[in-house]
Amino acid sequence: MKLTPEQAAEIAAARAQSRPTRRATVLALEEILYEPRSVLDHGFVRVIDYMGDDGAIVQAARVSYGRGTRRVSEDQGLINYLMRQRHTTPFEMCEIKYHVKLPIFVARQWIRHRTANVNEYSARYSILDNEFYIPAPEHLAAQAQTNRQGRGDVIEGAAASRVLDLLRDDAERAYAHYASLLNEDEAGPPRDPSWPGLARELARMNLSLNFYTQWYWKTDLHNLLHFLSLRADPHAQYEIRAYADTMLETVKRWVPMAYAAFLEYRLNAATISATAVRVVRRMLAGEAVDQASSGLSPREWRELMAVLGRS
Ligand SMILES: Cc1cc2nc3c(=O)[nH]c(=O)nc-3n(C[C@H](O)[C@H](O)[C@H](O)COP(=O)(O)OP(=O)(O)OC[C@H]3O[C@@H](n4cnc5c(N)ncnc54)[C@H](O)[C@@H]3O)c2cc1C
Repeated sequence: MKLTPEQAAEIAAARAQSRPTRRATVLALEEILYEPRSVLDHGFVRVIDYMGDDGAIVQAARVSYGRGTRRVSEDQGLINYLMRQRHTTPFEMCEIKYHVKLPIFVARQWIRHRTANVNEYSARYSILDNEFYIPAPEHLAAQAQTNRQGRGDVIEGAAASRVLDLLRDDAERAYAHYASLLNEDEAGPPRDPSWPGLARELARMNLSLNFYTQWYWKTDLHNLLHFLSLRADPHAQYEIRAYADTMLETVKRWVPMAYAAFLEYRLNAATISATAVRVVRRMLAGEAVDQASSGLSPREWRELMAVLGRS
């Protein structure tokens, strides 16, 4: 991730300011406010603003008049209870706003989460940066054999070099054509004064999905945790998971009690089907159950065994 001197100066200026307030603030999140946290090769996530803290969740749940802290253990117990029982609205009292720089193919997965407010960088109005995502070698993998929506073994050696060369060549050529269609690039003046260049809204269409875009993304804690439960999950695609993991760190700073409850009751918890519950009961009663006698499909059986930590 590289910032221009102007961007770095803007962040430094924002971080230099502070204002007195009666509103709840969270020191651990203030420490990283506005600062970009690097993700993938050119991306970042930075917290721009937030409202509320763990106390706001407790306060809303109790509909109390004060800031809503009794004892830490009581507050944690209440937040755990809310998370466990899926009493979700108190979590909607907290809001957060991120600035994210991400490859277009990650943005396409991300935008499916409709319960957020989004404002994306306009490539109709501005010229996209010459920045595209190239996976690190350890993330280059073949198509998974057992899961059509996933990766299998890592690709190494000459095959990996060929993949990386193709990805880089395609992106570089696409950007060179983009700049010549526009008849300008990040530097500004027309390259060929004899023609006006193609409109930005059209010139962008040849760029590949690994080019970076940017957006402001604002949501409440309930919907953020829903997003993170899907995208920080080990089954999520690595590239969006990298963003989700970075955002999880910001949640840990912001609302540590809600974060702990989320890890315990959602992210690291498991939901199993009614048939799977019957299988577990039969196992606990000492019965030898196998996939054929379980009533589960082979895939469901594998998933249940993974939850139970059995091979
Ligand atoms: C592993 C994985 C694989 C996926 N594969 C595909 C795929 O192949 N193709 C594809 O198109 N998408 C795919 N998706 C996207 C997925 O179908 C959802 O669109 C995405 O995860 C957003 O989830 P959401 O609707 O719960 O979130 P949000 O849009 O944030 O909505 C949050 C909740 O609000 C409610 N809600 C929001 N909008 C509505 C509505 N219009 N009507 C009713 N309730 C609503 C629902 O309760 C929803 O759960 C995949 C997602 C994952 C995690």
